Amino acid sequence: MKKTIAKMTSHTKLSGGSHPPRARLDRIFHSLEGALGTGMVLSAKEVLETYAEDDSGFGAFQPDFVIRARNTQDVSIILKEASREGVPVVPRGGGTGRVGGALAVYGGIVLSLEKMNRITAIENENFLARVEPGMILEKFHQSIEEAGLFYPPDPSSLDSCSVGGNVACNAGGPRALKYGVTSNYVLGAEFVLPDGTILKTGRSTVKGGAGYELHKLIVGSEGTLGVITGITFKLVAKPSHIETALITFPTARAALQSSQDIMKSGILPRSLEFMDALSLAAARTKVPRQLPETAGGCLLVELDGSSADTLLEEMGRVAEICDKHGSGEALVAQDEAQRRDLWTVRREVAPALREMHPCRVSEDIVVPRAALAGIVDELQTTATKHGIKIAAFGHSGDGNIHVTVLYDEPTREAADAACTDTLRLAVKHGGTVAGEHGTGIQKVGALALEQSAELLEFQRGLKKYFDPAGIMNPGKVVAI
Ligand SMILES: Cc1cc2nc3c(=O)[nH]c(=O)nc-3n(C[C@H](O)[C@H](O)[C@H](O)COP(=O)(O)OP(=O)(O)OC[C@H]3O[C@@H](n4cnc5c(N)ncnc54)[C@H](O)[C@@H]3O)c2cc1C
Repeated sequence: MKKTIAKMTSHTKLSGGSHPPRARLDRIFHSLEGALGTGMVLSAKEVLETYAEDDSGFGAFQPDFVIRARNTQDVSIILKEASREGVPVVPRGGGTGRVGGALAVYGGIVLSLEKMNRITAIENENFLARVEPGMILEKFHQSIEEAGLFYPPDPSSLDSCSVGGNVACNAGGPRALKYGVTSNYVLGAEFVLPDGTILKTGRSTVKGGAGYELHKLIVGSEGTLGVITGITFKLVAKPSHIETALITFPTARAALQSSQDIMKSGILPRSLEFMDALSLAAARTKVPRQLPETAGGCLLVELDGSSADTLLEEMGRVAEICDKHGSGEALVAQDEAQRRDLWTVRREVAPALREMHPCRVSEDIVVPRAALAGIVDELQTTATKHGIKIAAFGHSGDGNIHVTVLYDEPTREAADAACTDTLRLAVKHGGTVAGEHGTGIQKVGALALEQSAELLEFQRGLKKYFDPAGIMNPGKVVAI
């Protein structure tokens, strides 16, 4: 197993599992080939390498096998056999996770859901869709919108993440401010337990109180309790009008104060996104549009609704609020192409930072909204204290900031200390260490900063109840 742990911090723990011995792997290879069909259990080097990494940047962890499940029965057979043999199974969607959740840190089987990628029903009158987990989110959006409805969750990785991965991580995205995160849209799920049992949890109605809300527990379980093989999503009516503006500010604080005042004004944007000066500098390298060199902060504000006049009036009020905080240039999209251009600025921040700074750690904190402007100042104090740079951007309306700690090899320890300070800062202000990317392996050690020993122990017990053989994505979330 090849390991690169360059970007892990002291909160990134590898514990709670072990690599299975060769004899067990040989046995499961033969039994699964027998049950699923010859050629289903892949072990060629190129295949294993393809599934060895995700978007965490934590390096390559080669599984022993890759299986691309065709249906729920395949998943059930694989899990039953893996439980019997004690072989780790790592479910995988698009592999865009940021916290190492899809890494086979103890080898075993990567169970890819990519081939289970159909929409099985869109029920317009009932405002719901049934879909397999491997469907790519952007394709799901397109199909739903062609049917005249709307599925709001929109992580910025939407062209490559899967809806199953979104449910497993409870993904958010820019539109969460108005519409909520993935969990708000999961009415029900088909779920395979580690012993192979297939459960249908939840329902097809908006309300319901029969039994425990088990489908809610599955959301955000990051492949540690079982495998999601089908989802019933709630849909909403598609808004007919959208207004989008990119507004620059002299300082990050002015941008964040404006963000807070917009929220207090009674206007609820569907997206309210923040970028600091370093994030803007990174985005400028990728997008042709020239943002003013002097901007110290920026907001991307997007409103939607059913009346163009109302949106124009509200955008006018947004401009007045920003003006009070000294805003500079404001670019207002006049058509869909311009709207996409404005979003490119925001969407390119993370890829640009990644290209410019190979040594970086991305934290994903959320703080109560009122604390946000102060925290971004405190982050700069943290950066100065440790002699490194910190870029901050994200969903300011939600108080969710992606803090990217930039360093080079000699300052690696300082970066680690800066990450710890960042997480402590979030908790000190009543926030959380993990906003929308999940826990994975990155935050295993950080949970103790915000959760009590009793709560962590209870969650370990829950994991053991679901997965007594410890095969489901070992080492992730609550490593045992
Ligand atoms: C450029 C970029 C931008 C991003 N922006 C956002 C953002 O705005 N908001 C946000 O929330 N996230 C964002 N992310 C993070 C990531 O895209 C999300 O976490 C996404 O939900 C992961 O989906 P995936 O299909 O790629 O999952 P994977 O990376 O394949 O897996 C993630 C986790 O889910 C588990 N899993 C996957 N499928 C299943 C299944 N069927 N059953 C059980 N467990 C499963 C895996 O085991 C793993 O633990 C971004 C990532 C990138 C690279």
